[in-house]
Amino acid sequence: MTLVTAVYFIETWAVVYALLLVVYFATGFLFFNNDPASADRIQPGRVLAGAKVRRDMLQSVRSLASIAALFAVGHVLYSRFHIGWMAGPTNVWSVVLSFVVSMIAYDTWFYWLHRLLHTRPFYRAIHRWHHLSLPSVAWSNNSDTFIDNMFLQSYWLVAHLILPIAPVVLLAHKLYDHITGIIGHSGVEHGGGITYPPSPFNSVTHHDQHHRYFNCNYSPHFTVWDRLMGTLHPTHDAELRENLRRRQVGVSSS
Ligand SMILES: [Zn+2]
Ligand SMILES: [Zn+2]
Repeated sequence: MTLVTAVYFIETWAVVYALLLVVYFATGFLFFNNDPASADRIQPGRVLAGAKVRRDMLQSVRSLASIAALFAVGHVLYSRFHIGWMAGPTNVWSVVLSFVVSMIAYDTWFYWLHRLLHTRPFYRAIHRWHHLSLPSVAWSNNSDTFIDNMFLQSYWLVAHLILPIAPVVLLAHKLYDHITGIIGHSGVEHGGGITYPPSPFNSVTHHDQHHRYFNCNYSPHFTVWDRLMGTLHPTHDAELRENLRRRQVGVSSS
């Protein structure tokens, strides 16, 4: 590797890490709710201890550095070494199509590897850390071990190589995943009508149930794999309808 390539890697890593940190703190501040008196919370009265909140923030800041590194390695392999499937000309249609294809690919990648991490040989050493905060709050999103990221977040390296997608579109998808992931851990149903069952889009309730009931609701974007494979929690649709109704009528303001 030449010095120019090494500098390019460091620059890419720094830009992606800075973006992930800015989005993490901005979205986290907007969606953090750990108030035991808040009726907005999916699990009213249950809050995360202050020490656990700090643990999740600290670990997320560390964890985002490794996610940025995975993205930067993929980007250098693609842009400098021209390894992988080069993207065609960029236009509105190619951007929309490649964004949707990447969402489906990532959802599939994450669903199956996440299920694997919930099996006995992997869970304790790799994924348990993420499940130690109950209930989750917005800051819990990236509270993962380094090896956990090598499984679930390695998509951001591999996608550069296996999809003909412009790097900027992949970055936009990562930021979308980052924002929805932080909101998904907030413990307050922000999904709105677009997630009303049987919508394919995940709600906050979907991942809140993953933390509560454990062996269910594995996917990050869509309910499709969970429905197809029978891993959607049996009460998911009914609870989500009720949580959306409570938010719509404004339980908190009554
Ligand atoms: Zn899990
Ligand atoms: Zn989680």
